[in-house]
Amino acid sequence: MNYLRIIILLVIFNVTFGCKKDNSFKPNSGYIEPIDFLSGKKYKMLVVEISYVQGYMPTQETVNNMVTFLSARLNKPKGVKVTMKSIPSPRKSSFSHSDVVYLEKMHRKHFPLGDILTAHILFLDAGYIQDTDNTKYLGMAYGKTSIAIFQKTVSDYSGGITQPTNEVLETTIVNHEFGHVLGLVNNGTSMQTNHQDNDHGHHCDNDTCLMYYKMETTDIIDNLVGGNIPELDQNCITDLRNNGGK
Ligand SMILES: [Zn+2]
Ligand SMILES: [Zn+2]
Repeated sequence: MNYLRIIILLVIFNVTFGCKKDNSFKPNSGYIEPIDFLSGKKYKMLVVEISYVQGYMPTQETVNNMVTFLSARLNKPKGVKVTMKSIPSPRKSSFSHSDVVYLEKMHRKHFPLGDILTAHILFLDAGYIQDTDNTKYLGMAYGKTSIAIFQKTVSDYSGGITQPTNEVLETTIVNHEFGHVLGLVNNGTSMQTNHQDNDHGHHCDNDTCLMYYKMETTDIIDNLVGGNIPELDQNCITDLRNNGGK
């Protein structure tokens, strides 16, 4: 009788303990919205965690440009910080959406906590599974705080004599994907005037804007050879300002 009681108590204890452990170890950024990035009300600082496959590190200029871009648009009184670490090659010839989600799960260390918001960027050593001979993806924003850059493709299409520099192409794709995380276009940050390119998802209809759909693929290469990094146009900036940004 006493033994039975002890066993029952042990079972209850284990179940309770097990549940508690599960709950405390459930990193989840699903509740984050673009306004959390743009406004300083809830989150005062942004930490961007970069996990790059060895040999596929972004240039320091790109990291600086990204911080400048974010600092210009986000209300983060405690600043925008960056952490970087290398990860081993996943040894894949291309990446699917679920591959990328899995890699983030394996390697991401920082999640939103207190007044610190976090985002994670993977720099990968192969392309996207939906690439074609003509059009290859340079990056994608696949979660509320999650970006993947197909850095092998970026490096194949930049740095050559007839190509944009690494810095220009990397910065263009990183800033473009952050634009999606910030809710552009009509993707969590509402439009003040209609400027969505309806044939191409959550993109801007202005072909010189950072959020034009071609900025995401190798289709943009020829337009970047001049050396200028595309910027947000006035419509996109107005949307961000109306959702807590600056
Ligand atoms: Zn895009
Ligand atoms: Zn725009």
